[in-house]
Amino acid sequence: MSLSDFLNRDRWDGRFEVAECRRALHPSGLPGIDFALNPYGGCEHGCRYCYAPEVTHSDWDSWRVVRVRANIADRLSKEIQGLTGVIGIGTVTDPYQGAEARFELTLSCLQVISGSGMGVHIHTKSDLVTRDADIIASMPHTIGITVTTPDDSVSKRTEPGAPLPARRLEAMRTLCDAGLDVYALVGPVMSSLEGRERELAELICSTGVRKAVIDRLNLRPILQDRLSRMGIGASEKAVSTVRRCLEERGIVVSDAFPDRPRNDSETLHLR
Ligand code: SF4
Repeated sequence: MSLSDFLNRDRWDGRFEVAECRRALHPSGLPGIDFALNPYGGCEHGCRYCYAPEVTHSDWDSWRVVRVRANIADRLSKEIQGLTGVIGIGTVTDPYQGAEARFELTLSCLQVISGSGMGVHIHTKSDLVTRDADIIASMPHTIGITVTTPDDSVSKRTEPGAPLPARRLEAMRTLCDAGLDVYALVGPVMSSLEGRERELAELICSTGVRKAVIDRLNLRPILQDRLSRMGIGASEKAVSTVRRCLEERGIVVSDAFPDRPRNDSETLHLR
């Protein structure tokens, strides 16, 4: 496909620029992940708790201009030769943000990985991931879908560009029903969850998901300022309550960063 054909696809009209990808795979120290793959730079979801711009030495405004790594699947097909292990897709930005509906870079990468013997660990907060259920099911896989609140108004305030919680929960249900390995990524846990922990646990449980990963809010100084103006902070109470509510329903709960201090430089685009 020519670059102009590529650009003239019309299923998303957000702000983007085409960027050359010099290297598709990067070694990763994230738990259970050997290599990191991020088809897009920047992210349109605009989560108020996102610290990826800081980690990637970007700024908040340019972070929301999506950099489309148009040649990433070509690079990947060369780099993947002879490798084994698990590729984390979306370790820094969401691989199923709206740009993916138009450019299909994540799908192109999955097509390269399929049949290689390598596995994938996908992180997203978009129901677009269900589009690729068949190809993901054909390889060793794990899919984490983030849900931070049952409350649409909180989601709209804190994750203004992301699909609302009901769509993410429906995606969990669809993938579970199709037999895929899915877990709920509950994080970051914010004080806005206090009082709604049981409701969130019930919604997660109703999807058929049986695993959850919890991540605390990583209150870097830049976030502290931004979130405190919204009346939001970290909450150990919400962390322990949502954990208990999930475990009471038979869901196996683990921590996103069990052995690490929270100020390391990897993000899980957590956001
Ligand atoms: S936290 Fe993740 S989904 Fe949200 S803006 Fe940052 S990279 Fe995107």
